[in-house]
Amino acid sequence: MIDLRSDTVTKPTSGMMDAMMNAEVGDDVFGEDPTVNELEEKCARIFGMDGALFCPSGTMANQIGMAVLTQPYEEVICYEGSHIYKYEGGGLHGNSGLSVRLLKGDRGRITAHDVKKNINPDDQHFPTTSVVGLENTVNKGGGSYYNLKEIEEINEVARESGLKMHLDGARLFNALEETRDDPRDYGKMFETISICLSKGLGAPVGSVLMFDRPLKRSARRRRKTFGGAMRQAGFLAAAGIYALENHVKRLKEDHRRARELGSCLNALSWVEEVLPVDTNIVIFKLRPGMHSSEIVPELEDKGILSVAFGPDEIRLVTHLDYRDDDLEKTIDILKKFRR
Ligand SMILES: *Cc1c(COP(=O)(O)O)cnc(C)c1O
Repeated sequence: MIDLRSDTVTKPTSGMMDAMMNAEVGDDVFGEDPTVNELEEKCARIFGMDGALFCPSGTMANQIGMAVLTQPYEEVICYEGSHIYKYEGGGLHGNSGLSVRLLKGDRGRITAHDVKKNINPDDQHFPTTSVVGLENTVNKGGGSYYNLKEIEEINEVARESGLKMHLDGARLFNALEETRDDPRDYGKMFETISICLSKGLGAPVGSVLMFDRPLKRSARRRRKTFGGAMRQAGFLAAAGIYALENHVKRLKEDHRRARELGSCLNALSWVEEVLPVDTNIVIFKLRPGMHSSEIVPELEDKGILSVAFGPDEIRLVTHLDYRDDDLEKTIDILKKFRR
């Protein structure tokens, strides 16, 4: 079976397993796990930020970030398909009492102009706008990414209006491998940044939230109330350290394979349109009259696992366990697939 449902489906490599089995551990609730501490320091350093917190999931890292940046009744501005809004089970409302202002965005990328237009005036009728939430790369946008200038412009609007910025960087390293931007430039603009270790980087579990010094205590406190304070988590953190040291550069390979899948799909009669392939995500639209709820199981019968991304759209994601021979097999299956 060729599994292209997500870049979360990877299993640890043997090198990663060795790193995990040999990790030095302690009780991280007491702050005594040296491997967790090492991972957190490493991540903070990469982004030039003051602190970091190892979290069990990207959802938790995002939800902690949003919680520590806001007060109940405030409003967050984000893209309408953003993970923090659409795929975190209503956590912004449930965990932090927030309302959201949803923007359309170009393949998920919102603009400084649109942010500015959607900041509420200081009037008792309106919730106070307090945070801009960006996602990079954008999952719903087919792995699209921002360039630094676009984010700088949004940051300028945010600063003028006293808004804070959170970055959902689940796949930020995929963006950075393409743009070659310095992660420290991101660290300067955002109060909080989350990254996933368990996506393209190939760790089995874990995300990290980076932040500036004033948020250190509140972020740790929030992780506790969310039930995310772990004990000998160094076994998992070791996988994250290994991933950051060994699996960042190779993300380019995932992007190349995704592009090849994209061009293969573009030439097929049953495919209406393929979104531009910028990183490791391929989203394609089926010809009118075809439904992803039917095609996804048919592709599975032929040996390809994918996910429906809307009634007539399908998503494929390349990853660490998807190699060139898998790519050849996939292309072969897709070309023979007839409807
Ligand atoms: C996967 C993902 C997350 C985090 O998901 P978890 O499954 O909770 O780790 C956050 N944001 C985006 C854009 C994602 O793709």
